[in-house]
Amino acid sequence: MAAALRTHRIACIPGDGIGPEVIGATLKVLETLERSLKTFKLDFTQLPWGSDYYRSQGRYMPTDGIQLLKQHDAILFGAVGDKDVPDHISLWELLLAIRGQMQLYVNVRPVRTLPGIQPLIATPVKPIDWVIIRENSEGEYAGQGGRTHVGQPWECATEVAIYTRHGVGRIMRFAFETALSRPQKSLIVVTKSNAMRNGMVLWDEIATEISKDYPSVTMEKMLVDAMTVRMVKNPHTIDTIVGTNLQMDILSDLAAALAGSIGIASSSNIDPSRQSPSFFEPVHGSAFDITGKGVANPLGAIWSATEMLRWLKEDDAADRLMSAIEKVCEGNILTRDLGGHAGTLDVADAISKELSQSI
Ligand code: ATP
Ligand code: MG
Repeated sequence: MAAALRTHRIACIPGDGIGPEVIGATLKVLETLERSLKTFKLDFTQLPWGSDYYRSQGRYMPTDGIQLLKQHDAILFGAVGDKDVPDHISLWELLLAIRGQMQLYVNVRPVRTLPGIQPLIATPVKPIDWVIIRENSEGEYAGQGGRTHVGQPWECATEVAIYTRHGVGRIMRFAFETALSRPQKSLIVVTKSNAMRNGMVLWDEIATEISKDYPSVTMEKMLVDAMTVRMVKNPHTIDTIVGTNLQMDILSDLAAALAGSIGIASSSNIDPSRQSPSFFEPVHGSAFDITGKGVANPLGAIWSATEMLRWLKEDDAADRLMSAIEKVCEGNILTRDLGGHAGTLDVADAISKELSQSI
């Protein structure tokens, strides 16, 4: 008798701009993987949330949207953002609402030079292989603050960053665990504690406290400005990095560009307790300059799908998909952002072909 397929319920939100294009490519590849392996099944719920939905419904997702998402095992997301809607509205109503209300407090962004992809910087010692861990629930994106005297010359706006012992402690522990699981066992804690004397000093103190539980991990503290220089000049000295919501948002874009293109970078928004479904998305946004042209790089979304499979404990499928991605890159089937001529679907087809042939 055939073994029952493991079924995972996935909420799929393609969103805006190039989101539907890269998610379309990802679904094609996942379908091939499912069909070839015959060990698991992904049961997708397609959710048309995003800026078109906002224009017709006046909101980015329905009022019971979070409840609906919670009925799934994972969420696969494309991008959100529209030319006609201010970014702070689309971001807060959809992306930050999901991350915040479901307490997906860890954001993991792996950065690796893939074979066949030219990094932006010379890496003579060893290829880039970093994990950036971003605090995803508080900090500078806590949404606290306000505006007074609007429109007056003395108008004043505050944007208050919130750092709690609970919030910093849990992300720091996750970062030490990640560093411990990797061969180099090294963690760089990034702050700006010379200029920001409250929250950033709390980060430094908690890092020192938690490091005592991880004697085999080498922990270093670095200021974010110095870290940008180190990423460019000494990439081989870096392994796992942890830092605040805003600072890692910026560093991870830089990291993605250094490794080749923002189009290949993946991002996992995780609830380590698994009480809420984790959420997987490419790092890039809706990129309207290339929308509808069929040239968007789907690798960021497809790489995110491998991280989703890993989170769903489908390691074999994740490994096979990642190695198919690497083979296709090695074979120079690359989109324009990586110096190639392939279109979004050419890359997806090549990965599907590689999967069909190798399984
Ligand atoms: P957001 O405001 O959500 O960050 P954005 O519209 O500013 O989104 P990004 O996705 O941040 O755009 O990307 C900046 C630029 O990088 C895009 O305008 C585009 O030219 C390029 N880019 C982004 N993603 C891709 C991709 N998947 N493939 C190719 N080029 C990309
Ligand atoms: Mg942008």
